[in-house]
Amino acid sequence: MTDRKAQLAANLAKVEERITAACTAAGRKREEVTLIVVTKTYPASDVRILSELGVRHVAENRDQDAAPKAAECSDLPLLWHFVGQLQTNKVRSVVGYAGVVQSVDRSRLVAALSKEAVRAEREVGCLIQVALDAQERGRGERGGVGVGGIEELADLVAGAPGLRLDGLMTVAPLTGEYAGRQQAAFERLMDLSTAVRRTHPAANMVSAGMSSDLEQAVAAGATHVRVGTAVLGVRPSLG
Ligand SMILES: *Cc1c(COP(=O)(O)O)cnc(C)c1O
Repeated sequence: MTDRKAQLAANLAKVEERITAACTAAGRKREEVTLIVVTKTYPASDVRILSELGVRHVAENRDQDAAPKAAECSDLPLLWHFVGQLQTNKVRSVVGYAGVVQSVDRSRLVAALSKEAVRAEREVGCLIQVALDAQERGRGERGGVGVGGIEELADLVAGAPGLRLDGLMTVAPLTGEYAGRQQAAFERLMDLSTAVRRTHPAANMVSAGMSSDLEQAVAAGATHVRVGTAVLGVRPSLG
């Protein structure tokens, strides 16, 4: 085993232990939580190693980096999640590799994703990104729609050709009433998910929690955690 593979295997084992412990503490089954490894800023060679180690879900936040990496790894059995702020002019490229876009936060983006998914003859799973620090119907600084805008976007995605409404995603806010209160933020996301599922019962994905707060996300009921640093190491400041 190469040094890098041994290192990633050890990190993955630690994250796996944390998820298992969090599930046990919450009375949940380990299978209820899917690990998504956020590979942004790390090379395709790391993605390949992760795949060899059994990782099946990876996430990226910039199309410029993700597109060549996904192309290099197209022989691997991976599902690519897009988790970054997405400009409509990048949608065609993203739809080429991403099975799930977790950062859907405005109607123009839904229209662009639908158009390109139909064109590519692909079905793209969509999560509405919720900004818990945004104004009721405004947008968050790091993307996401305010709580008041969720329902309209969910209905739009559910009715859009080529798109599938999978659920909700959030990033714990750094400002506002939920700053420093990750678990409360994730519990709020769960309540919002329950509300969405009344109209869209299949939209049961709840993506929350990163390296520093995955325990709180699992405790709140998240179905997907997005972990970068704890698996791959601390990133250079960009990204
Ligand atoms: C980078 C990123 C993560 C992973 O963050 P870590 O702290 O490295 O685990 C999760 N979600 C999103 C949206 C990200 O951009």
